[in-house]
Amino acid sequence: MEKQTTISKDTAVSGIGLHTGKNSKVVFKPAQANTGIKFIRVDLPKKTEIKADWTNAQGIHAVRGSVIAKNGAEISTIEHIMACLHSFAIDNVIIEINSAEPPILDGSALEFANALVKAGVQELDCPREYFIIDEPFDFKIEKTKYSAAPNDRLAIDCAIGFDHPFLKYQHLIIDSIDRDNFIKEIAPAKTFCFDFEIEYLQQHNLSLGGSFDNAVVIGAQGILNKQPLRYQDEFVRHKILDLIGDLYLAGKPIKAKIIADKPGHQNNISFVKELIKKARIGG
Ligand SMILES: [Zn+2]
Repeated sequence: MEKQTTISKDTAVSGIGLHTGKNSKVVFKPAQANTGIKFIRVDLPKKTEIKADWTNAQGIHAVRGSVIAKNGAEISTIEHIMACLHSFAIDNVIIEINSAEPPILDGSALEFANALVKAGVQELDCPREYFIIDEPFDFKIEKTKYSAAPNDRLAIDCAIGFDHPFLKYQHLIIDSIDRDNFIKEIAPAKTFCFDFEIEYLQQHNLSLGGSFDNAVVIGAQGILNKQPLRYQDEFVRHKILDLIGDLYLAGKPIKAKIIADKPGHQNNISFVKELIKKARIGG
Protein backbone atom coordinates (compact mmCIF):
# COMPACT_ATOMS: atom_id res chain seq x y z
CA MET A 1 0.00 0.00 0.00
CA GLU A 2 1.37 3.39 -0.96
CA LYS A 3 1.19 6.15 1.59
CA GLN A 4 0.35 9.82 1.15
CA THR A 5 3.18 12.32 1.24
CA THR A 6 3.94 15.93 1.99
CA ILE A 7 7.14 17.98 1.85
CA SER A 8 9.66 17.73 4.70
CA LYS A 9 10.17 21.44 5.28
CA ASP A 10 9.14 24.89 4.01
CA THR A 11 10.53 26.10 0.71
CA ALA A 12 9.92 29.39 -1.12
CA VAL A 13 10.16 30.74 -4.65
CA SER A 14 9.74 34.36 -5.81
CA GLY A 15 9.71 36.40 -9.00
CA ILE A 16 7.31 38.38 -11.18
CA GLY A 17 3.92 37.11 -12.33
CA LEU A 18 3.43 36.60 -16.07
CA HIS A 19 0.10 38.37 -16.40
CA THR A 20 0.25 41.03 -13.70
CA GLY A 21 3.99 41.79 -13.98
CA LYS A 22 3.97 42.17 -10.18
CA ASN A 23 6.26 40.54 -7.65
CA SER A 24 5.00 37.31 -6.21
CA LYS A 25 6.21 34.88 -3.57
CA VAL A 26 5.02 31.35 -2.95
CA VAL A 27 5.88 29.44 0.21
CA PHE A 28 5.30 25.69 0.17
CA LYS A 29 4.55 24.23 3.62
CA PRO A 30 4.12 20.67 4.85
CA ALA A 31 0.48 19.63 5.36
CA GLN A 32 -1.42 16.80 7.07
CA ALA A 33 -2.84 13.80 5.26
CA ASN A 34 -6.03 14.45 3.26
CA THR A 35 -5.36 18.20 3.00
CA GLY A 36 -4.71 17.95 -0.73
CA ILE A 37 -3.12 20.90 -2.53
CA LYS A 38 -4.31 24.10 -0.94
CA PHE A 39 -3.38 27.68 -1.85
CA ILE A 40 -3.82 30.56 0.61
CA ARG A 41 -3.92 34.18 -0.60
CA VAL A 42 -2.04 35.77 2.29
CA ASP A 43 -2.17 39.27 0.75
CA LEU A 44 -5.94 39.62 1.08
CA PRO A 45 -7.44 41.15 4.23
CA LYS A 46 -9.38 37.93 4.78
CA LYS A 47 -6.93 35.12 4.03
CA THR A 48 -8.72 32.89 1.57
CA GLU A 49 -7.96 29.20 1.20
CA ILE A 50 -8.53 27.77 -2.27
CA LYS A 51 -8.22 24.06 -2.82
CA ALA A 52 -6.56 23.32 -6.16
CA ASP A 53 -9.17 21.03 -7.63
CA TRP A 54 -11.76 21.00 -10.39
CA THR A 55 -14.52 22.31 -8.12
CA ASN A 56 -12.66 25.62 -7.90
CA ALA A 57 -11.30 25.63 -11.46
CA GLN A 58 -12.46 28.50 -13.65
CA GLY A 59 -12.64 27.27 -17.22
CA ILE A 60 -13.37 30.63 -18.80
CA HIS A 61 -9.94 32.18 -18.31
CA ALA A 62 -8.04 29.69 -20.42
CA VAL A 63 -5.75 32.35 -21.86
CA ARG A 64 -4.41 33.03 -18.38
CA GLY A 65 -3.46 29.46 -17.68
CA SER A 66 -5.35 27.44 -15.12
CA VAL A 67 -7.27 29.61 -12.70
CA ILE A 68 -8.81 28.62 -9.38
CA ALA A 69 -11.14 30.85 -7.42
CA LYS A 70 -13.24 30.88 -4.29
CA ASN A 71 -15.30 33.56 -2.57
CA GLY A 72 -14.08 36.20 -5.03
CA ALA A 73 -10.38 35.41 -4.51
CA GLU A 74 -8.53 33.89 -7.43
CA ILE A 75 -5.14 32.57 -8.42
CA SER A 76 -4.14 32.09 -12.04
CA THR A 77 -1.36 30.17 -13.79
CA ILE A 78 -1.04 27.45 -11.16
CA GLU A 79 -0.30 24.66 -13.66
CA HIS A 80 3.50 24.60 -13.42
CA ILE A 81 3.35 24.18 -9.65
CA MET A 82 0.61 21.55 -10.01
CA ALA A 83 2.68 19.63 -12.58
CA CYS A 84 5.62 19.41 -10.17
CA LEU A 85 3.41 18.22 -7.30
CA HIS A 86 1.68 15.60 -9.49
CA SER A 87 4.99 14.29 -10.88
CA PHE A 88 6.71 14.28 -7.48
CA ALA A 89 3.74 12.35 -5.98
CA ILE A 90 3.19 15.03 -3.34
CA ASP A 91 -0.37 14.64 -2.07
CA ASN A 92 -0.57 17.34 0.54
CA VAL A 93 0.88 20.82 0.68
CA ILE A 94 -0.14 24.32 1.72
CA ILE A 95 1.01 27.04 -0.67
CA GLU A 96 0.94 30.56 0.69
CA ILE A 97 0.95 33.15 -2.07
CA ASN A 98 1.04 36.96 -1.78
CA SER A 99 -0.51 37.81 -5.15
CA ALA A 100 -2.98 36.58 -7.75
CA GLU A 101 -0.45 34.39 -9.58
CA PRO A 102 2.76 32.52 -8.86
CA PRO A 103 6.03 33.82 -10.35
CA ILE A 104 6.55 32.87 -13.99
CA LEU A 105 10.34 32.51 -13.46
CA ASP A 106 11.92 31.34 -16.72
CA GLY A 107 8.57 30.10 -18.07
CA SER A 108 9.34 26.52 -17.13
CA ALA A 109 8.75 24.44 -13.98
CA LEU A 110 12.44 23.97 -13.23
CA GLU A 111 12.78 26.38 -10.32
CA PHE A 112 9.67 25.01 -8.58
CA ALA A 113 10.98 21.48 -9.11
CA ASN A 114 14.39 22.41 -7.67
CA ALA A 115 12.73 24.02 -4.62
CA LEU A 116 10.68 20.87 -3.99
CA VAL A 117 13.75 18.65 -4.37
CA LYS A 118 15.45 20.79 -1.74
CA ALA A 119 12.45 20.56 0.61
CA GLY A 120 12.33 16.77 0.31
CA VAL A 121 9.30 14.52 0.52
CA GLN A 122 8.08 12.59 3.57
CA GLU A 123 5.49 9.85 3.91
CA LEU A 124 2.41 10.29 6.06
CA ASP A 125 0.64 7.51 7.89
CA CYS A 126 -2.36 7.39 5.58
CA PRO A 127 -3.01 5.40 2.38
CA ARG A 128 -2.81 7.21 -0.96
CA GLU A 129 -5.81 7.04 -3.28
CA TYR A 130 -5.66 7.30 -7.04
CA PHE A 131 -8.19 7.79 -9.79
CA ILE A 132 -7.90 4.52 -11.72
CA ILE A 133 -9.24 3.85 -15.20
CA ASP A 134 -10.53 0.29 -15.81
CA GLU A 135 -12.19 0.81 -19.21
CA PRO A 136 -10.70 2.96 -21.97
CA PHE A 137 -12.75 5.96 -23.10
CA ASP A 138 -12.50 8.82 -25.59
CA PHE A 139 -13.52 12.41 -25.07
CA LYS A 140 -13.74 15.03 -27.78
CA ILE A 141 -14.29 18.74 -27.31
CA GLU A 142 -13.99 21.16 -30.23
CA LYS A 143 -10.72 20.32 -32.02
CA THR A 144 -9.24 18.58 -29.01
CA LYS A 145 -9.31 14.82 -28.52
CA TYR A 146 -8.47 12.89 -25.39
CA SER A 147 -8.37 9.20 -24.57
CA ALA A 148 -7.74 7.46 -21.28
CA ALA A 149 -6.68 3.82 -21.02
CA PRO A 150 -5.86 1.52 -18.09
CA ASN A 151 -2.22 1.75 -16.98
CA ASP A 152 -0.38 1.04 -13.74
CA ARG A 153 0.96 4.61 -13.61
CA LEU A 154 0.46 7.99 -15.27
CA ALA A 155 1.72 8.02 -18.85
CA ILE A 156 1.13 10.76 -21.43
CA ASP A 157 1.00 10.67 -25.21
CA CYS A 158 0.58 14.21 -26.51
CA ALA A 159 0.42 15.84 -29.94
CA ILE A 160 0.14 19.50 -30.85
CA GLY A 161 -0.77 20.94 -34.24
CA PHE A 162 -0.93 24.50 -35.53
CA ASP A 163 -1.66 26.09 -38.86
CA HIS A 164 1.69 27.87 -38.73
CA PRO A 165 4.75 27.78 -41.01
CA PHE A 166 7.29 27.14 -38.22
CA LEU A 167 5.30 25.05 -35.74
CA LYS A 168 3.00 22.57 -37.45
CA TYR A 169 3.14 19.36 -35.46
CA GLN A 170 5.01 17.79 -32.56
CA HIS A 171 4.34 14.50 -30.79
CA LEU A 172 5.89 12.88 -27.71
CA ILE A 173 5.14 9.95 -25.42
CA ILE A 174 6.35 9.92 -21.81
CA ASP A 175 5.85 6.41 -20.44
CA SER A 176 6.15 7.23 -16.80
CA ILE A 177 5.51 10.59 -15.18
CA ASP A 178 7.72 10.37 -12.12
CA ARG A 179 10.05 12.83 -10.42
CA ASP A 180 13.21 11.97 -12.32
CA ASN A 181 11.57 11.81 -15.74
CA PHE A 182 9.79 15.06 -15.06
CA ILE A 183 13.00 16.89 -14.13
CA LYS A 184 14.87 15.49 -17.13
CA GLU A 185 12.23 15.57 -19.87
CA ILE A 186 9.50 18.06 -18.94
CA ALA A 187 10.29 20.62 -16.22
CA PRO A 188 12.81 22.68 -18.29
CA ALA A 189 10.39 23.15 -21.25
CA LYS A 190 9.38 26.82 -21.42
CA THR A 191 6.06 28.52 -22.06
CA PHE A 192 5.65 29.59 -25.68
CA CYS A 193 3.53 32.00 -27.66
CA PHE A 194 3.29 33.29 -31.21
CA ASP A 195 4.54 36.77 -32.08
CA PHE A 196 1.07 37.88 -33.27
CA GLU A 197 -0.46 36.98 -29.89
CA ILE A 198 1.68 39.36 -27.86
CA GLU A 199 -0.04 42.60 -28.86
CA TYR A 200 -3.48 41.10 -28.16
CA LEU A 201 -2.40 39.84 -24.73
CA GLN A 202 -0.93 43.18 -23.69
CA GLN A 203 -3.92 45.14 -25.00
CA HIS A 204 -6.06 42.97 -22.74
CA ASN A 205 -3.76 43.56 -19.78
CA LEU A 206 -2.40 40.02 -19.94
CA SER A 207 1.23 38.96 -20.10
CA LEU A 208 2.41 42.30 -18.67
CA GLY A 209 5.35 40.43 -17.14
CA GLY A 210 6.04 38.50 -20.33
CA SER A 211 9.49 38.77 -21.92
CA PHE A 212 12.01 36.78 -23.91
CA ASP A 213 13.35 35.59 -20.53
CA ASN A 214 10.18 33.70 -19.64
CA ALA A 215 8.61 32.65 -22.94
CA VAL A 216 9.73 31.29 -26.27
CA VAL A 217 8.28 33.59 -28.93
CA ILE A 218 7.59 31.94 -32.27
CA GLY A 219 7.72 33.94 -35.50
CA ALA A 220 6.93 32.76 -39.00
CA GLN A 221 10.56 31.83 -39.69
CA GLY A 222 11.56 30.48 -36.30
CA ILE A 223 11.97 31.49 -32.69
CA LEU A 224 12.70 35.15 -31.93
CA ASN A 225 14.66 34.53 -28.72
CA LYS A 226 18.46 34.81 -28.71
CA GLN A 227 18.72 31.75 -26.48
CA PRO A 228 18.36 28.44 -28.34
CA LEU A 229 15.55 26.01 -27.53
CA ARG A 230 16.18 23.59 -24.66
CA TYR A 231 14.75 20.70 -26.68
CA GLN A 232 14.06 20.48 -30.39
CA ASP A 233 10.46 19.49 -29.47
CA GLU A 234 10.21 21.87 -26.52
CA PHE A 235 6.67 23.02 -27.42
CA VAL A 236 4.99 19.63 -27.03
CA ARG A 237 7.00 19.08 -23.85
CA HIS A 238 5.55 22.29 -22.40
CA LYS A 239 2.03 21.20 -23.38
CA ILE A 240 2.67 17.95 -21.50
CA LEU A 241 3.84 19.97 -18.50
CA ASP A 242 0.61 21.99 -18.51
CA LEU A 243 -1.48 18.83 -18.98
CA ILE A 244 0.18 17.03 -16.04
CA GLY A 245 -0.62 20.08 -13.90
CA ASP A 246 -4.22 20.35 -15.07
CA LEU A 247 -4.81 16.63 -14.55
CA TYR A 248 -3.93 17.07 -10.90
CA LEU A 249 -7.02 19.28 -10.57
CA ALA A 250 -8.79 15.91 -10.33
CA GLY A 251 -7.86 16.20 -6.65
CA LYS A 252 -6.00 12.89 -6.56
CA PRO A 253 -3.16 11.47 -8.67
CA ILE A 254 -4.18 9.54 -11.77
CA LYS A 255 -3.20 6.02 -12.89
CA ALA A 256 -3.92 5.87 -16.62
CA LYS A 257 -2.41 6.39 -20.01
CA ILE A 258 -3.69 9.73 -21.28
CA ILE A 259 -3.59 10.48 -24.99
CA ALA A 260 -4.17 14.15 -25.83
CA ASP A 261 -4.36 15.73 -29.27
CA LYS A 262 -4.17 19.56 -29.15
CA PRO A 263 -4.79 19.96 -25.41
CA GLY A 264 -5.41 23.37 -23.82
CA HIS A 265 -6.29 24.49 -20.31
CA GLN A 266 -10.01 24.97 -20.75
CA ASN A 267 -10.51 21.60 -22.43
CA ASN A 268 -8.19 19.90 -19.95
CA ILE A 269 -10.57 20.88 -17.15
CA SER A 270 -13.56 19.44 -19.04
CA PHE A 271 -11.60 16.24 -19.60
CA VAL A 272 -10.70 16.02 -15.90
CA LYS A 273 -14.40 16.19 -14.99
CA GLU A 274 -15.15 13.40 -17.46
CA LEU A 275 -12.24 11.32 -16.17
CA ILE A 276 -13.49 11.58 -12.59
CA LYS A 277 -16.92 10.32 -13.70
CA LYS A 278 -15.35 7.30 -15.43
CA ALA A 279 -12.66 6.51 -12.86
CA ARG A 280 -12.63 4.28 -9.81
CA ILE A 281 -10.90 5.35 -6.61
CA GLY A 282 -8.30 2.83 -5.48
CA GLY A 283 -4.76 2.32 -4.22
ZN1 LIG B 1 2.57 26.40 -19.07
